[in-house]
Amino acid sequence: MSRKVLVLGEVRDGSLRNVSFEAVAAGKTIAEGGEVVGVLIGKTVSALGEELIQYGADRVVVVEDDKLEQYTSDGFSQAFMAIVEQENPEGIIFGHTALGKDLSPRIASKLSTGLISDSTSIEEAGGNLVFTRPIYSGKAFEKKIVTDGVIFATIRPNNIAALEKDDSKSGDVSSLSVDIKDLRTIIKEVVRKASEGVDLSEAKVIIAGGRGVKSTEGFNPLQELADVLGGAVGASRGACDADYCDYSLQIGQTGKVVTPDLYIACGISGAIQHLAGMSNSKVIVAINKDPEANIFNVADYGIVGDLFEVVPMLTEEFKKL
Ligand code: FAD
Repeated sequence: MSRKVLVLGEVRDGSLRNVSFEAVAAGKTIAEGGEVVGVLIGKTVSALGEELIQYGADRVVVVEDDKLEQYTSDGFSQAFMAIVEQENPEGIIFGHTALGKDLSPRIASKLSTGLISDSTSIEEAGGNLVFTRPIYSGKAFEKKIVTDGVIFATIRPNNIAALEKDDSKSGDVSSLSVDIKDLRTIIKEVVRKASEGVDLSEAKVIIAGGRGVKSTEGFNPLQELADVLGGAVGASRGACDADYCDYSLQIGQTGKVVTPDLYIACGISGAIQHLAGMSNSKVIVAINKDPEANIFNVADYGIVGDLFEVVPMLTEEFKKL
């Protein structure tokens, strides 16, 4: 059954986040030969429409308004619902990001439809679209099918591969004029923590440090390794609680959930709450002095040793490649 699917393109600092392209690929699976319509909402975002098309969207609908310069669930839901009314989709895909997690339940409720959140794969099986999502902090997976109504899902970043970009592809990018009613939340100023380098939630390589790094300076060798591999530095809550690094780096049940291609855990014991945020990484390497550390139970490769010796050795070896 072919469907029309709306896919939200998420814009940050004037660029589309990678999860937008992964959402287009998910949208293609759900469309089953139907149409994938990219959606862009913001103050000036229409120039990004072409990129969504090059990643596989058939066309793009844009809602632009000064009131949409910053994300608010109120403003974005007004804009998105106007597009829903125009397009009447049979499927909707958002990224399972802070924005997607906030906006999707609101839209699902307005549409009186269900929501499959945090999907890590979508497959066709036995005539059904089967969505897989982790449950119990990643210890089990459940499979869901939608039997009725709009198929609405959020997808976990870094799990569903984006399609190859086709620079020669073009398509229609149209504007929809929406009268955005007065917002109940007005964002006066956004104060960002200075952060450099790769975004942790979208990083393909993460070098994470735990209490074993022992100090803020102890993160330096991890940063050097991350720089060589083009990755990002993350942390356990143990390291954050000890004030070795900022809580924005925390990975786990109460931190970020990540699924990089390579996760190198340095001086992290592997508490269940930490595993909840990283155990679905594609390849896990653990470096720990304690051969009994629980992190080795989820690791594909384990190195029993002192991280201050092992990490610089890895950096030197990777530099040679
Ligand atoms: P530790 O458990 O102290 O482990 C340090 C490890 O470093 C040890 O295994 C040690 O052998 C090793 N080590 C020491 N020195 C070296 C060295 N030189 N070289 C190599 N290895 C060395 N934790 C999270 O991470 N994320 C969460 O989101 C999270 N949420 C939580 C939510 C709740 C409700 C609760 C109760 C806890 C949560 N925690 C979370 C905390 C979690 O239970 C652990 O306390 C925490 O993960 C431990 O951090 P750690 O592994 O860095 O420290």
